[in-house]
Amino acid sequence: MFTEKNPLRLTVISGKGGTGKTTVTAQLAYTLSRIRRIVIADCDVDAPNLHILLNPEVVEEKPFSGLKKAKITDRCVSCGLCYKLCRFDAIVENDGRYEVDEKSCEGCSLCYNACPEEAIEMVEGIRGKIFVSNTKIGRMVHAILFPGEENSGKLVMEVKELAKAEADSTGAAAIVVDGAPGIGCPVIASLASTDIALIVAEPTLSGLSDLSRVLELTDHFRIKSAVVINKWDLNKEVTKKIERACIEKGVEIAGKIPYDDSIPKQISRLEFPFEGEAAEAIEGVWEKLREIVQ
Ligand code: SF4
Ligand code: SF4
Repeated sequence: MFTEKNPLRLTVISGKGGTGKTTVTAQLAYTLSRIRRIVIADCDVDAPNLHILLNPEVVEEKPFSGLKKAKITDRCVSCGLCYKLCRFDAIVENDGRYEVDEKSCEGCSLCYNACPEEAIEMVEGIRGKIFVSNTKIGRMVHAILFPGEENSGKLVMEVKELAKAEADSTGAAAIVVDGAPGIGCPVIASLASTDIALIVAEPTLSGLSDLSRVLELTDHFRIKSAVVINKWDLNKEVTKKIERACIEKGVEIAGKIPYDDSIPKQISRLEFPFEGEAAEAIEGVWEKLREIVQ
C-alpha cells in the first residue's frame, strides 16, 4: 500500500465537527505529498472548509444531480390523494391546487406511483457542483450542495469515485479523504472502501463518548481504525481515559497532538502548511499510520 499501483485510501473522521479534523487532514495530506503524489477528497460536503486552507484552482466542474424529486404537472385534477399520502409534508395545497415543496421532497416516488391521473413526474434537478482542482499539494476533489439541499451521502460517493479516477489517471500513491463528522449516512459513505480510518478525538467527556460511537461504527463495518488525540494536553485525565478505551478495543493510538495556539493564528492568516509543535506531531502521525497499514 502507498504505491502508485496500490494507492492508500486514508479517511480522517471525527465524532462531531470542531475537533480539528480538517486541520489534521490538511497537514497529513501535506506530509504525504512530500513523499509521493496524492489526491485529496473533501467529503465533508455539508460543511466543506478544506478549500480555505488549500486554495484550490478549479480545472473541472460538473453538476451534481442528486435525487429525483416529484413535480406535479397540468394533468393534476386536484383530488388531494398525493397530499394525504406524502409522509414528508412535501405536497402543499394552495387554493385547491397542489404543488411540491422541493426542499421537503425525499424522492420516495409514493405520490408518483399513486396518482390516478399519472400527473406526477420524478424530475432530476441540479442539486450541487463537484470540482476537480489543483492545489499546491496535489489534485483535490471537492463539492458544494446548493442551500437547502440534502442527500449528501450520494454526493460523498460521487466525490470519492472522482477522487479514485483522479488517483488512477495521475498515478497517485494515496487518496486522503476529509470525511464527514458524526455517524450518519455521509460518514458511512466517506468510509466506503477505505483502507484506514483515522479518528480525531478531543479530550473531553463528550469527545470520549463521540469516539465510542464512531468506534462502534468502524467496528461494525470492519474498517481498520486508529485514533489521534488532538489538544491532548488540555485534559490529561480524559486523554488517559481515551487511551484506555482504545487499548480495550484493540485500536492503536496514532499520535497525540499538543495544543498549539499558533494553529488558529496560522488558519486566520491562511498560512498553510502549518508550522510548529502541532504540525510536527501530525507529521509523526503519518509514521505511525504507515506502520499500521503495512
Ligand atoms: S394525486 Fe395526482 S391528481 Fe391527485 S392531487 Fe395529486 S397530482 Fe393531482
Ligand atoms: S416523492 Fe415522496 S416525498 Fe416527494 S412529494 Fe412524493 S410522496 Fe412526498
